Amino acid sequence: MTASARMIVRMIARLRTQGIRNEAVLSAMQRVPRTQFVDSGLAFNAYEDTPLPIGFQQTISQPFVVARMLEILLAGRASLGRTLEVGAGCGYQAAVMSSLASDVFAVERIRGLIETAKENLRPLRLPNVRMKHADGMLGLPEAAPFDSIIVAAGAPQIPVALVEQLAPGGRLLAPVGDQRTQQLVLVERRENNSFTESRYDAVRFVPLLAGTE
Ligand code: SAH
Repeated sequence: MTASARMIVRMIARLRTQGIRNEAVLSAMQRVPRTQFVDSGLAFNAYEDTPLPIGFQQTISQPFVVARMLEILLAGRASLGRTLEVGAGCGYQAAVMSSLASDVFAVERIRGLIETAKENLRPLRLPNVRMKHADGMLGLPEAAPFDSIIVAAGAPQIPVALVEQLAPGGRLLAPVGDQRTQQLVLVERRENNSFTESRYDAVRFVPLLAGTE
């Protein structure tokens, strides 16, 4: 086994001890080489359970948080279906979601990052992942509605446009709170179009910001 393969195996074992039980999520994470999404100088740190810098003052999410969010979104469903990711960053989570979703639309507000994300994803040849440079607070009206929406940046409130772009039966998961700490909030749109909200883990994400740069 290569050093990198050993590190992936260890990361998956650690996720299990941290309580991740969803086998589909674990095998999706096993398939994506995290080293390809961080600076080569950080390759040895790629599988540690910590966020790492990806430039532009942004971070790649820690493996546990990626796994936890996908487990919450997927629970009891066979697929994430048509999925929107707000805050693609380096593209890691979008790559993981590729095998859990029918389509992944990942938007990122920083142009330099979306370009890096596209380069990171190219060698993986994931035909169902599309990247767009856009303000995800507005959702992605041209591709809506979505069965799943995942927000990878924290805000005091969930943008209304995102909730509106949920399909009946769809789920949205977002970190809600102030700059220092947020809580994962799951919004579900029932088939009768009413909404329910549930709260999960405390987390800490970079801020969700309006506009593009
Ligand atoms: N999903 C990434 C983590 C990215 S960090 C991973 O797999 O590791 C969060 C990202 O959200 C940052 O790159 C930030 O630029 C982006 N972001 C913040 N506000 C945004 C917005 N309104 N629209 C799109 N992206 C946004």
